[in-house]
Amino acid sequence: MNKALNVTQNTAQAVPATPTLPDAQTVTSVKHWTDRLFSFRVSRPASLRFRSGEFVMIGLMGDPHPETGKQKPLLRAYSIASPAWDDELEFYSIKVQDGPLTSKLQHIQPGDQIILRPKPVGTLVHDALLPGKRLWLFATGTGFAPFASLLREPETYEKFDEIIMTHTCRDVAELAYGAELVASLNDDPLIGELVENKVRYYPTTTREQSPKMGRITTLLENGTVFEDLGIPPINAETDRGMVCGSLDFNKDIKVLMESFGLEEGANSDPKHYVVEKAFVG
Ligand SMILES: Cc1cc2nc3c(=O)[nH]c(=O)nc-3n(C[C@H](O)[C@H](O)[C@H](O)COP(=O)(O)OP(=O)(O)OC[C@H]3O[C@@H](n4cnc5c(N)ncnc54)[C@H](O)[C@@H]3O)c2cc1C
Repeated sequence: MNKALNVTQNTAQAVPATPTLPDAQTVTSVKHWTDRLFSFRVSRPASLRFRSGEFVMIGLMGDPHPETGKQKPLLRAYSIASPAWDDELEFYSIKVQDGPLTSKLQHIQPGDQIILRPKPVGTLVHDALLPGKRLWLFATGTGFAPFASLLREPETYEKFDEIIMTHTCRDVAELAYGAELVASLNDDPLIGELVENKVRYYPTTTREQSPKMGRITTLLENGTVFEDLGIPPINAETDRGMVCGSLDFNKDIKVLMESFGLEEGANSDPKHYVVEKAFVG
């Protein structure tokens, strides 16, 4: 066997078995919180700029077409859970057992690749809110994700004196990702000094027994939240809100915000509160 042939063989062996994905990013860590929830971190494209609270499309290659064998990317909207300054990108995800994407995505491991389209958009951004004193962040389920970004964003603490993070889930275990994140804020080496105990965390459950039971909408409506926190009710002069949950939840909170005199804002028209759906369906 001559030398040239040897070189050719070695090169052939070095070629990866699967072609590199378009817009590929590498998974750096994965953490499973419950059988329905996990979070993961991926490398960040050097050119990606985004505002804390925005979402991007991420996914995997779909199954090969039965006749042509061709594969198409299977993409879904995902809030970026990490802040804009982070070197990596974090995501917090549901596992839908028969979901086209998450039935596969839930099995990713460090070193695997995902597709990430680097076009961030969204309304849960500081630019869409008028200045205020108190910022309410209302989340259900994985709707916590954009707030995981905003809670680690310095601008949040520069713009507001108090941040009230409400998170409603069915069971206590589903609150763990958010609870751990909130608990880490004051001691965070990068933003801890800015946070200065400004975050008030208000977790509630709707099914499993916990210290605070009930939907946040009910607890706002009957004034329990304000009593528990020892603060005056929401008003348009001081309070701003960001909402991320199911369509029904968003609709109910919108009615409540309007009843307190708050108006919905947008990137092009900043006002008192903004809304984004956590999923379609
Ligand atoms: C703007 C936007 C941001 C989003 N950000 C996130 C995010 O940060 N994390 C995340 O997990 N998902 C997020 N989603 C939902 C996500 O796009 C997918 O729907 C989800 O990953 C499931 O994908 P799938 O292909 O497995 O199932 P799909 O076919 O997309 O969904 C199947 C069904 O599962 C339910 N479902 C989907 N997503 C959720 C969810 N997050 N929580 C509860 N039930 C759900 C719905 O009933 C839906 O009809 C976001 C959606 C939108 C529109």
